Amino acid sequence: MRIDIITLFPEMFEPVLNGSIIGRAQKSGVLEIVCHQLRDYAFDKHKRVDDTPYGGGMGMLMKAEPIALCFEDICKQIGKRPHFVYMSPQGKTLKQQRLRELADVENICILCGHYEGVDQRLLDEFIDEEISIGDYVLTGGEIPAMVFADALSRMVPGVLSNNECFTEESHFNGLLEYPQYTKPSVWRGKEVPEVLMSGHHANIEKWRKEKSIEVTALKRPEMLEKYDGK
Ligand code: SAM
Repeated sequence: MRIDIITLFPEMFEPVLNGSIIGRAQKSGVLEIVCHQLRDYAFDKHKRVDDTPYGGGMGMLMKAEPIALCFEDICKQIGKRPHFVYMSPQGKTLKQQRLRELADVENICILCGHYEGVDQRLLDEFIDEEISIGDYVLTGGEIPAMVFADALSRMVPGVLSNNECFTEESHFNGLLEYPQYTKPSVWRGKEVPEVLMSGHHANIEKWRKEKSIEVTALKRPEMLEKYDGK
């Protein structure tokens, strides 16, 4: 998968998406993340990417043309049109199910808004999907884009060492994950559940499924109502 990110702050992404698991995946070639400085596509003499909104009101809006030029350049660079996502508090809230669907898409481009947002004409003409990371407003789309790119990247085959790393995790199958324990087997008088030390795989699996259901019922009862039992 290749993810292109259009932003006014490409340097924000460097430490987050080039380190750890996502950084290793990029080095191994299963994933490529490319940030584009939007200001490089502002061709007026002041390199302006924002302007005041028509009708008045607070703040500035991102202009349509630099974003359009940047996106068209990305299309040229990769030889096709990527699925174009705008990070927006008005979008559909990001869910694991949507990430599962998008993990199969080869090229995704993410637009990070700033200021008061983006000229509506650009959104109408270019954007395929608006995604929100929650019902609150952040100052810019960079942190939401990092959340989206990270959560998406780990679903791409080959990024994690084993698919079980995410298929067993919270939300993948509609449940929260079971409790987990590591060494020592007794910590401050508290013991690890015996079944996990038994080496009996069928019993461990059964225990984990039961605990998963129990934890979901306790923490997110509305998820359990929708759970289809698979
Ligand atoms: N005026 C906009 C509104 O009320 O819908 C909010 C603009 S916000 C201050 C600036 C940028 O941050 C947005 O263009 C968007 O890219 C990003 N952003 C803010 N909150 C977000 C959220 N919950 N999810 C995704 N992106 C968000």
